[in-house]
Amino acid sequence: MHQNYINGQWVGCEESLENRNPSDLTDLIGQYASGSAADLDQAAQAAAQAVPAWGLSNPQVRADALERIGAAILSRKGEFGHMLAREEGKTLPEAIGETVRAAQIFKFFAQETLRIAGDAIDSVRPDVDVMVTREPVGVVGVITPWNFPIAIPAWKIAPALCYGNCVVFKPAELTPGTAHLLAQIIAEAELPVGVFNLVMGAGSVVGQAMVEHPLIDAISFTGSVPVGRALAVEAARGLKKVQLEMGGKNPMVVMDDADMPLAIEACLNGAFYSTGQRCTASSRLIVHRAVYDDFCDRLVTAAAALKVGHALGAGTQIGPVVSEKQLRSNLAYVDLAREEGAEVFGGEQINAPTEGFFQRPAIFRNAQNSMRISQEEIFGPCASVIAADDFDHALALANDTAFGLSSGICTGSLKYAREFRRKSTAGMVMVNLPTAGVDYHVPFGGRRGSSLGSREQGRYAAEFYTSVKTSYVFAG
Ligand code: ADP
Repeated sequence: MHQNYINGQWVGCEESLENRNPSDLTDLIGQYASGSAADLDQAAQAAAQAVPAWGLSNPQVRADALERIGAAILSRKGEFGHMLAREEGKTLPEAIGETVRAAQIFKFFAQETLRIAGDAIDSVRPDVDVMVTREPVGVVGVITPWNFPIAIPAWKIAPALCYGNCVVFKPAELTPGTAHLLAQIIAEAELPVGVFNLVMGAGSVVGQAMVEHPLIDAISFTGSVPVGRALAVEAARGLKKVQLEMGGKNPMVVMDDADMPLAIEACLNGAFYSTGQRCTASSRLIVHRAVYDDFCDRLVTAAAALKVGHALGAGTQIGPVVSEKQLRSNLAYVDLAREEGAEVFGGEQINAPTEGFFQRPAIFRNAQNSMRISQEEIFGPCASVIAADDFDHALALANDTAFGLSSGICTGSLKYAREFRRKSTAGMVMVNLPTAGVDYHVPFGGRRGSSLGSREQGRYAAEFYTSVKTSYVFAG
């Protein structure tokens, strides 16, 4: 059994979870520890004990450790990519790309360690100095989903350690393999005992225990809206700092002056790559009526040509859906699309030489924005195509959602691009680029039902992972 890492030791536990390859159900990746509330308690105590020394450690020590972790991930990117593709179903090039991204994030925060700065301000009182400094929050609980099994943990764990916090990491049940590899690398990076802990297991057990634990000072969570909402309520009860990244129903507007091949490529990528399992996926394609039929015809042809298959297969463009539960949910939405009156292209489950959860990309033509298929996050390779009369109508449709993570527009007009950038109510706006695919050194996050709390990534991460101290010194 692959063990948890608590207080500098690899420790087993009574229960375990099976990790299977969604591209080939005969491929058992391994048994992974499924921890208990007691394991979480041990990890929280170890982390709390390590906080005072780590929080006051020399920034060069933390910079060197993060740099070592980043370099180790990079040197093992093939192994990581293979594990990630095998357990999550992302294609191998995408999986290796995500691994490289994780390494870059650790290297970015290695440097940020040396840039933690505050303010010195003149006091309004004589002979008094005022200083504003940033200090660690304490023990940070990290709860992550299965869809980016190394990048999301990296963008939470790296800043947590950078700013002097200690970490208890609970990865998703479906992707413990990548998390375990990451923990191995961190364990080899010579951090003081207790600074980093891994507790794999069920969200309802380990996650719940983390949210309720008095020694956990802050929780950074990425996952679904219902779990995030419940977690925020529980965190408020314990007065914990909380940061939530949840779903999206991201619009991509295609104007009549768009470069059509570019728009098709952006929509194909945004809607279907990574099997549509990205919170920034373009699941609502809002297309100007003048080019609607042409756009739909081209998109249907291009989507039908995408090669769906085993994530490790040569030339595969779309890997499997992550689990049977997710596949059933996706197929139910395809049925719902028909019931709601959309015209469905693709979306059927398909067979491959290996038994897995393969689904052809689904396009819902003549969809309305008010339909459930256009309002609820499906989290699969499914996109509604909605007609818009003009720019104002397209903008109104784009903003008519309970979410607000990412949005995009394909247009040749600077005026439309500028208007859209200013008036879109999403946290991230893309012009002539897919809604998914972001840089690692700038803020990531959304509004309304998509996010709560301060932004992740880049220098903005300091808002969540530090606490500000204002000190007054009288030297009279
Ligand atoms: P997804 O649909 O992406 O699996 P979830 O919100 O169910 O989204 O899961 C995201 C993460 O939250 C996972 O690590 C999961 O184990 C964890 N989780 C699930 N339920 C809870 C809970 N009640 N408390 C804390 N964490 C939870």
